[in-house]
Amino acid sequence: MKIAVLPGDGIGPEILAEALKVLRALKLPLEMQEAPVGGAGYDAAGDPLPEATLALARSADAVLFGAVGGWEYDKLPRPMRPEQGLLRLRKELGLFANLRPAVVYPELASASTVKPEIVAGLDILILRELTGDIYFGEPRGVHTLASGEREGINTMRYTESEVRRIAHSGFRAAMQRGKRLCSVDKANVLETSGLWREVVIEVAKEYPEVELSHLYVDNCAMQLIRNPKQFDVIVTGNIFGDILSDEASMLTGSIGMLPSASLDANNKGMYEPIHGSAPDIAGKNVANPLATILSAAMMLRYSLNLAAEADRVEAAVRRVLAQGLRTADIYSEPGGAAGTRKVGTREMGDAVVAAL
Ligand code: NAD
Repeated sequence: MKIAVLPGDGIGPEILAEALKVLRALKLPLEMQEAPVGGAGYDAAGDPLPEATLALARSADAVLFGAVGGWEYDKLPRPMRPEQGLLRLRKELGLFANLRPAVVYPELASASTVKPEIVAGLDILILRELTGDIYFGEPRGVHTLASGEREGINTMRYTESEVRRIAHSGFRAAMQRGKRLCSVDKANVLETSGLWREVVIEVAKEYPEVELSHLYVDNCAMQLIRNPKQFDVIVTGNIFGDILSDEASMLTGSIGMLPSASLDANNKGMYEPIHGSAPDIAGKNVANPLATILSAAMMLRYSLNLAAEADRVEAAVRRVLAQGLRTADIYSEPGGAAGTRKVGTREMGDAVVAAL
């Protein structure tokens, strides 16, 4: 199995190095090939997504991605900026399903702004459609009315086939987890959502083992704060998912812990931490590598069909947290909670390997 390794900028190379250590320790037949992307791509080839990097990503079974961006690139023309490389890569690979787990390890429950008893042990997955909806719908734009007033227009639209493929992704993810899927829409007001709901109900017939429920997006936003542990997998459209996935990630309170995946119709995917390149801490051996290590675990589970190995990596992460190891972002200053010890990026990666 071939993995394209795209470290990117800032802390990207540091955190990916730890994820690669963990993958190597599993002794799997993985061929890992590295290429520059983002600012590093611009520096190497004058393009945030160099041709050779795109070709490698296309030919690989999965892509493991660090992060892109840096102050030194902020003055470049927009198409040359590091973030454009990431957006183009997602588009070129047809990655329409964005998986964002929100997991709260009991040891880190106090990092959340929500009461620990509400979030301790949380383990939910938000699945967001990534390539349709009001972000891409036409017509769009701002024009001037006959009255001289300006009007802004965006169009929410989903075709049946777009809903069907993300619904399948949702049911497949639910089958690999707790077999419960909640579809989120606004079917009481929006026709697009009415169609969404009909199609999801049709697709459900192919997954009799999965318990399907529906929520309106406003209620879902409330339920995520009131009782988030009621959910297993949530599937929703692009704009609702954008908002709900950020809400869910903040239940956990620790950006350095959250992995993500973006998948195509064949479960080929790109795996990356949800955080950015953190230029403020780059090169200092303080970044938390666990979001990237957990992204590698998602890659094993969703693209490489190696669920047992994914479980092993996730269990190893839980073990190092239980042992009290904390990078600076999850260490409670001053002095740290009882039984905890502050460690650097490399020490955290080594500890996960030792726990494996
Ligand atoms: P950021 O996520 O990089 O950093 C936000 C804060 O969280 C910073 O204080 C940072 O030090 C901290 N942080 C992030 N990851 C951490 C980790 N693993 N361990 C410990 N602390 C961590 O967001 P930002 O500062 O808004 O953006 C910085 C750059 O990253 C910008 O150029 C931005 O465009 C880019 N960015 C890239 C991605 C991506 O590659 N997917 C996502 C978001 C932002």
